[in-house]
Amino acid sequence: MSPPVPPQRVAIFGRPGSGKSSLAERLGLDHGYALVRTGALLREAVRRRAPLGVRGEGYLKAGALVPDDVVAALVAQALAAVGDGRLLFDGFPRTLGQVEILVAWGRERGYRVDCFLDVAIGREAAIARMGGRRVCPTCGATYHMVSHPPRHDETCDLDGTRLERRKDDAPEIIEARQRVFEESTQPVVDHYRTHAPGRYRRVDGEQPFEAVYAETLRALGLDA
Ligand code: AMP
Repeated sequence: MSPPVPPQRVAIFGRPGSGKSSLAERLGLDHGYALVRTGALLREAVRRRAPLGVRGEGYLKAGALVPDDVVAALVAQALAAVGDGRLLFDGFPRTLGQVEILVAWGRERGYRVDCFLDVAIGREAAIARMGGRRVCPTCGATYHMVSHPPRHDETCDLDGTRLERRKDDAPEIIEARQRVFEESTQPVVDHYRTHAPGRYRRVDGEQPFEAVYAETLRALGLDA
């Protein structure tokens, strides 16, 4: 079945460095999608020393995946807070175990993701991009010094905070995170491509940011 146009609930996928988080932010700002970002939720839970954050911290630092039950609990909390409007998952589901969790939510309470958006980019291009990535430590907004720079020299457009590199953007961690994507998340993308082709959309993530965004709007029926 085709997704409603535009889709109400979207899950975005892409290698670390694909630009998926910047795309998610733009979709949130321009088209009213509430973002559920598991990486940001985890980093925030670590900062607050919340029990789920304490459980996830070691995995996060190593660039490894946090256990599915921790992620599911964080997502469930976030969903309770965001209401019924447009919603965009950035970073979930990231394992076949998390796909199963979504299937169970569908069975138990009719929960359905309408569109799976694949921001496709090769490993080398993704690694090259990750070196330029910056994040706002206050609000979590993401930038890229080449493809999606802030308006003013390394400060956040939204709140003026000095931007930082993420700790998991160190070179050896970058390699590990690409491997984790290939081993755990590419099978999730392949799963939706083959099992839900009507809800699967692919965009070319190797283009400049604005071109990827334009293609994404067309893919989601948001360009009218
Ligand atoms: P991200 O900001 O999406 O790149 O995520 C940063 C880190 O958070 C990842 O490297 C993982 O350690 C963890 N993480 C985020 N989302 C998930 C998920 N769905 N399942 C497991 N770990 C996750």
